[in-house]
Amino acid sequence: MARIAECRCCGSTDIETVWDLGLQPIANDLKNPGTDPASEAKFPLEVAFCKSCALMQITETIPPDVLFNADYPYYSSVSKHLLEHSKAHVDSLLAERTLGPDSLVVEVASNDGYLLKNFLAAGVPVLGVDPASGPAQTANAAGIPTINTFFSRRVAEKLAAEGKLADVVIANNVAAHVDQINDFIDGFRIILKDDGIAEIEVAYLLDLVEKVAFDTIYHEHLFYHSLIALKALFKHNGLHLNDALRIEMHGGSIRVRVSKQEGESERLKALLAHEYALGMDKVDFYRGFSQRMEETRSNLEALLLKLKAEGKRIAAYGAAAKGATLLNYLRLPKGTLEYVVDLNPHKVGKLLPGVLLTIQPVDILPNDVPDFVLLLAWNFGREIIAQQSAIAQLGSRFIMPVPLPRIVRETSEV
Ligand SMILES: [Zn+2]
Repeated sequence: MARIAECRCCGSTDIETVWDLGLQPIANDLKNPGTDPASEAKFPLEVAFCKSCALMQITETIPPDVLFNADYPYYSSVSKHLLEHSKAHVDSLLAERTLGPDSLVVEVASNDGYLLKNFLAAGVPVLGVDPASGPAQTANAAGIPTINTFFSRRVAEKLAAEGKLADVVIANNVAAHVDQINDFIDGFRIILKDDGIAEIEVAYLLDLVEKVAFDTIYHEHLFYHSLIALKALFKHNGLHLNDALRIEMHGGSIRVRVSKQEGESERLKALLAHEYALGMDKVDFYRGFSQRMEETRSNLEALLLKLKAEGKRIAAYGAAAKGATLLNYLRLPKGTLEYVVDLNPHKVGKLLPGVLLTIQPVDILPNDVPDFVLLLAWNFGREIIAQQSAIAQLGSRFIMPVPLPRIVRETSEV
C-alpha cells in the first residue's frame, strides 16, 4: 500500500484530502463466517483534490493483487440494461461515423464482447482488450478478437506498429480504476487515427455530489471525474476533450468524446460553464460536500439508533461495495442491524467486510418481516420496494439513507 505524494495526472504536490471516510476494508472482499475482526486489513479511504488540475483521487494505491483478488469474475452480458445501453451507443456511432470493412473499433475493457459484437454484426472489424481471462476467452470463442491484457502505452505502441490504428476507441467504466492514468490515456493517443475519436464513460462527479452518493467511493475507484479535470487529463496527454453527454448509467455517468483535433461542442461548453459556476475547480466546493456527508451520517446514525432503542428490528438490503462503504462509514454499535440480504446466491452466507454483517437470501424477508429495511442499494429503491410490497403490507418500512435519511413505505415516496 502506498499513499500518493503527488497528483496521478499532473504531478502537482499541492493536493488536499477533502473527503475522509475513515479506515475501510476492501469493499468487495466478502468474508467467511467466523472471521476475526482484528485480522481484517483496513486502509484509509480518503479522496484528495489536486489544486493544480482539479482531479479528485483516492490517496491510497492498493496493490492490484490485493484489490482484485476480492472480485468475482464479472460478465457484462448478464446485464440486460447494459446490453441495451451499449447497442444504442453503437447504433448512434454507426449512424454518425462512416465505418466499414476497412475501419477498426478498439474497446478497452471489452469484457465478454458485449458491446463490440454490435459493430461486428454491422461488418466493422473490432479488437477488444481486457485483463480478465474468463471474459476474454468467452469473447474470443464467440469470434470477437480480444487480447487478454491491461491496456497501456506499451500495448498501444505494439498494436500501432502492427498497423492496427483505430477509427473509434471505446472505454467504458475503466478510466477511473487505472492508477497509471497518463500511461493509459497516452495509449489512446497512440492507437487513434488522426481523424479517429475515443468515447469514454465514467461515473460523473457532479452526480455523486447532487445525490450525496458518497457510498460510491471505494478503493478500486481511484478517480472521481469532473469535466474540468478530464479536460486537463486529456490535454496533459496530447488529446482534446470535445464533447460530453450526461447519461443515466450507474447512477449518473458522463460520456466524453476525445480526439487529436480541437473543437469543443456547445454542449460541452455549457457543461463546463456549469461546473465553473458551481466552483468545481476550487477546493471549497469539495470541503463543503464533506460537511454534507457528515450531516447525512449523523442523521442516519440517529435515526437507526432511535429505532433500535424503540425495540425495532432493522435489516439491510444490498451487499455490494456501496453498502460496505456506507456501513463502515457509520459508527453503529454491533447488533444495530440484524443482517443484510442480497439477490446474488454466491454472496449468501458470507459477511460484508468491516462490519461483518451476515448476508442472507432475499427470500428471508417475507418470513422474518423486519420492522425496517435499510436500502443500501438505494439506487434501486423503487424496484426493491415494489418487489417487497408483501412485507410493506405486513408493516415493514424502508429507510432511504441519502440524500437525507428518511422512512418510506411505497415506491411513490422514493
Ligand atoms: Zn493534478
